[in-house]
Amino acid sequence: MNEFKPVLALVIPCYNEELCIAATAGRLLEVLQSLIDKNKISEKSYLYFVDDGSFDNTWSLITELHKANSQVKGTKFIKNFGNQKALIAGYESVRDIGCDCAVSIDADLQQDENAIETFVDKFLEGFDIVSGIRNSRDTDTFFKKISAILFYKLMYMLGAKIPMNHSDYRLVSRRALCIMELYPEKYLFLRGFFNDVGLKTAYVNFDVKPRMAGESKFNFVKLMGLALNGITSFSVVPLRIVSILGFIMAVVSFLIGAETLFEKIFFHNTPNGWATNILLLCFFGGIQICCLGVIGEYVGQVYREVKARPRYIKDTELK
Ligand code: UDP
Ligand code: MG
Repeated sequence: MNEFKPVLALVIPCYNEELCIAATAGRLLEVLQSLIDKNKISEKSYLYFVDDGSFDNTWSLITELHKANSQVKGTKFIKNFGNQKALIAGYESVRDIGCDCAVSIDADLQQDENAIETFVDKFLEGFDIVSGIRNSRDTDTFFKKISAILFYKLMYMLGAKIPMNHSDYRLVSRRALCIMELYPEKYLFLRGFFNDVGLKTAYVNFDVKPRMAGESKFNFVKLMGLALNGITSFSVVPLRIVSILGFIMAVVSFLIGAETLFEKIFFHNTPNGWATNILLLCFFGGIQICCLGVIGEYVGQVYREVKARPRYIKDTELK
């Protein structure tokens, strides 16, 4: 039997989930209790709801649950900030309240809550991050399936190697939460961050169920926003492509210019004014694209600096 019983916090972002909250809280409290009974986690473990600015009864239900059972905690946003911000707030809050590890899970319990036990087992084996990988995308709409595949392929090509069918269902250790504090960027893309941070990571497959009640809170605009944020916050490759393209275009322009000049001088077969036009066009076009590339490189540098990420994170040290 394990001596160390970690305090586990379950982080649940919710936006207009009045139809799910009570059942979800009940089920997750059962999961916590069974892990407590198995001596795997501390009895101080708790649920932490983040109400992402709901305008239905979500928050009053959470308040009632809290009054009945202090294991249910939570916070409410002043308005809707989106699922990623709700998750970040949840992670930061449970780190401050106190926990040894945290699992984030959706309020509609689409992610199989029975996997939490496997997550905890992996944590006890010494993994800092346990990432949930979806077994299938059967519950997704056709559009969501296609966009997800395209997104992961694109991210892979751009250098952010996030495993296919990754999700925000994961366990993270206190250590990972403390490192997250060193990344002050406002638009932190969690899947990229936890995958990239360098901590010992395990992957656990889980089944996806249909939504318990209510409708998906993700629409096209929100999904595209998430995907764009993922790409721009974890890759400077698109900017680099602009610089390289700029350089290639500039060289091609100058070559065309040189060829026109060559024809003008040696063959005299160009109409009057043609060479001047082409030369000016190529010269200014080439200069402009080149300058854009240079600016792109500086923008890339500014982008990396403003994110103010840590230069390095030490794993261990002998003194
Ligand atoms: N969610 C949120 N803020 C939002 C949109 C969604 O906190 O602006 C929550 C939502 O309540 C749920 C989770 O994020 O707990 C995942 O959302 P949903 O189930 O609607 O997404 P889907 O499963 O369809 O991808
Ligand atoms: Mg869902």
